[in-house]
Amino acid sequence: MYWRQPEIKKTKTVCTYCGVGCSFEMWTRDRHILKVQPVVEAPVNGISTCIKGKFAWDFVNSPKRLTTPLIREQGRFREASWDEALSLVARRLLEIRDEHGPDTIGFIGSSKASNEEAYLTQKIARLIIGTNSVDNSSRYCQNPATKGLFRTVGYGGDAGTIADIEQAELVILVGSNLAENHPVIAAKVKAAKKLRGQKLLVLDPRKNEMAERADLFIRPKTSTDMVWASALARYILDNGLADREFLESQVNQVEEYRKSLEPFTLEFAEEVTRIPKAQLIEAAEMIGQAESVCLLWAMGITQHSHGADTSTALSNLLLVSGNYGKPGTGGYPMRGHNNVQGASDFGCLKNMYPGYEKVSDEKTRAKWAQAWGVEPERLSLEVGSDNFQMVQDADTHKIRAMFIIGEETAFADANTTNVHKGFEELEFMVVQDIFVSRTAEFADVILPACPSVEKEGTFTNTERRIQRFYPAMPPLGDSRPDWQILTELAARMGHDWGYAHPSQIMDEVAGIADIFAGVNYERLEGWKSQCWPVRADGTDTPLLYTDGFHTDDGKAVLFPLEWKEPDEAQDSEYDLMLDNGRMLEHFQGTNQTGRSPAIDDLVPNWFVEVSPELATERGIEDGSWVKVTSRRGSVELRAVVTDRVAGTTLFMPIHQGKPGINHLTGEHHDPVVNTPAYKETAVRIELMPQG
Ligand code: SF4
Repeated sequence: MYWRQPEIKKTKTVCTYCGVGCSFEMWTRDRHILKVQPVVEAPVNGISTCIKGKFAWDFVNSPKRLTTPLIREQGRFREASWDEALSLVARRLLEIRDEHGPDTIGFIGSSKASNEEAYLTQKIARLIIGTNSVDNSSRYCQNPATKGLFRTVGYGGDAGTIADIEQAELVILVGSNLAENHPVIAAKVKAAKKLRGQKLLVLDPRKNEMAERADLFIRPKTSTDMVWASALARYILDNGLADREFLESQVNQVEEYRKSLEPFTLEFAEEVTRIPKAQLIEAAEMIGQAESVCLLWAMGITQHSHGADTSTALSNLLLVSGNYGKPGTGGYPMRGHNNVQGASDFGCLKNMYPGYEKVSDEKTRAKWAQAWGVEPERLSLEVGSDNFQMVQDADTHKIRAMFIIGEETAFADANTTNVHKGFEELEFMVVQDIFVSRTAEFADVILPACPSVEKEGTFTNTERRIQRFYPAMPPLGDSRPDWQILTELAARMGHDWGYAHPSQIMDEVAGIADIFAGVNYERLEGWKSQCWPVRADGTDTPLLYTDGFHTDDGKAVLFPLEWKEPDEAQDSEYDLMLDNGRMLEHFQGTNQTGRSPAIDDLVPNWFVEVSPELATERGIEDGSWVKVTSRRGSVELRAVVTDRVAGTTLFMPIHQGKPGINHLTGEHHDPVVNTPAYKETAVRIELMPQG
């Protein structure tokens, strides 16, 4: 069957999966998605996409989509009208607020919803409920990186654009499986290497595809990255490789920082990280001698008990070598979800209004109160609870109600056994999603939302680039765009905001939050885009820090640190460490990718990677059934014997399995940002009878 050209609708959309932010045309006829067509005008990807952006769209028309609100009654869900469901949600949230206080209600915004929808989520929490307890999934991934950037250079976003990464003389990948998690950026790095001789340095406990292509691949002991980063910085300072002029004119605390580096000798780093001294020197020389360095990091750094410190150490290293504020330089935390950057930018954070404006600052509060037409006292100055605290506090009834939008918390949080227990203790739980997710199974009310191809809005990618997406088809059944649901809900709680189009929401944000001052839908029309901060005249900022840093005096800060051991270690009972991460084909809990048979068939089963040396020692063969047990629980799955992992480190994908990897992970977390240390899980492995 083929469709004639005039019957085909071509709609510009932005990918719903990772933070690269690829945009393309979606060709549809009625609800049929005929193909995804990349176009040269796309600012990030041009004519490239990866397998997910190109093919993983079957979920849109899945028969499992939610098409009507559901209310739990006597332990079962029954269909309900929007009027009944929204009235119930409004009434119960206001009752709990009035009876127990605003801070007993927590909101988790979606990293898949639009910027405008993130804004409305926090507006309901702050203005109507009166709490700052609003967060998003960046708590579980890149908040430690953001903290490291706040401490050193000032903005919680990538220092430049993907074009800067392409033009760098040296690209460093740390704890980032770029080829599988951000494939289109990886393709650009591969091309730059091949065509221009760009140098590539990879540091990772797992030998991923980019490691195989690297000029230098280094395998540190897991959770020790802060030590090698500090040792390289010390070597660069001690051996005349630092950018002296830059340090003198643009950086504060140089001497304090230099003093803090005293313990970080090459010998100490070799002992702690198990990286041979010669490799440490080679890496330091590569960095010190390169004209321009981009350093990319991801959850291999952040999901540890001291991920914020390690992220800070990486940014310190870039400062020492003068790699900020020039084309082809800077720190680049690779954002995971397509709009995890936007969810934070637009205020789904416990301590920040949209545009990273502090909730605890009285002047800031007065500004937002005036914009929202209320007395300042109506808005809380107290920092709220984050995702991690909300779930912990549900167990003790400090949190009594949760409103979760598009997040698979019941699968993605660490130690899911405890998470489920907390959810069961809640008085009231609302989930707004496109499927009855594992999280929605705990809800009292489920509100059916729309995926991006059925609505309009903007997403912000990893390089702070704001792009519009347009509806390729109408909402399925009685589902609704999240911004409409939230607007309706607010009206039922006495706040008639009257938004008729998401552009009005963006105009409102632009009128309040400084970094979005010049953002509007006209300037983002079609394939146009803007990287924040955007001045009122519409000038955007692809490369940050060209005129100084985002600090009080415009200077960067070298932030002194101390080495701290990871919170969970191997012992005689749990003698292995479990690493985990994503695969190219799937995304998160497979709620979307798992509904594309062609993709699901490529990786149908969950597995654990075992090193050849460990397999030989334990009698494990490729395909053996094994049981992996942590201090929290056990899972059974097949072993894949591969030299991608080494020694006593195992690796599991995060996507599949029942009960899933977070049945094993624990609640130990980074105390600075409350990010669980997913990648510090001590386990043991046992061979199972063949099933
Ligand atoms: Fe989508 Fe990311 Fe793939 Fe681009 S690289 S098509 S944004 S999943």
